[in-house]
Amino acid sequence: MAIDLSGQVVAVTGASSGIGEATAIACARAGAAVALAARRVDRIQALAERITQEGGRALAVETDVGEESQARAFVERTHSELGRLDVLVNNAGVMLLGPIENAPTEEWRRMIHANVFGVLYCTHAALPLMRAQGSGHIVNVSSVAGRIASAGSGVYNLTKFGVGAFSESLRQEAVGLGVRVTLVEPGAVATELPGHNRPEVIAQMEKRFQGVTPLAAEDIANAVLYAIDQPASVSVNEVLIRPSGQQG
Ligand code: NDP
Repeated sequence: MAIDLSGQVVAVTGASSGIGEATAIACARAGAAVALAARRVDRIQALAERITQEGGRALAVETDVGEESQARAFVERTHSELGRLDVLVNNAGVMLLGPIENAPTEEWRRMIHANVFGVLYCTHAALPLMRAQGSGHIVNVSSVAGRIASAGSGVYNLTKFGVGAFSESLRQEAVGLGVRVTLVEPGAVATELPGHNRPEVIAQMEKRFQGVTPLAAEDIANAVLYAIDQPASVSVNEVLIRPSGQQG
């Protein structure tokens, strides 16, 4: 049976590309009104127009999720302008790899800003709204790198292990609010994510994933939809999803 999210409002961070964009499109096609957050406002505005042209409802809000006031404004505008907040997908993130020794420490700050503070601030803003509603669902996008640490990935590992730990703690607290929490942990997905790295890091990544056909962003969107489409009595806590050819 086709997934029906009509009447629901889904807020997606990092909706300007990759997994966030695919998730927003999938939710809108399933009938949800969607709120889109990212810094590249032209991209989320174009996506909102596309969704509207297809007959959906979308709100684009320029947001740096690592800035508390902007994260809060995104979540609160979603609720006030679209009328509810059923699902928050904390997807925005950056992955800047390389050895710890001699790393440009600005890369660490960028990852902690988006991958950690972004998740914390959006969640913090969403919880009172979901409590008042008596229901809600928070989907946090972590990574296989949130389960398995490896050389050259230390700070990305730190942020994604952190998201995993935070999600389990949040899940336990949110049970009493009627709010479900799902942690999604993708393996390699074909998106813009690796492209922000230094050239030598990109070359190493290409070597590591040689011969692996990555997942499509839509594969992860499908996993998110699976989790949020379950009946209220079912809480999908964790989804670990790799390309069939990915070993580590
Ligand atoms: P993309 O680079 O395509 O998308 C990342 C998104 O995050 C963009 O929309 C970007 O928007 C947004 N973003 C980054 N920083 C901020 C910020 N400070 N404030 C608001 N938005 C921000 O990569 P993916 O789609 O692959 O990444 C999505 C998530 O999936 C990330 O959390 C990533 O760690 C995770 N992931 C990805 C994997 C992969 O192989 N691709 C594997 C495992 C996990 P903008 O730049 O416009 O702000």
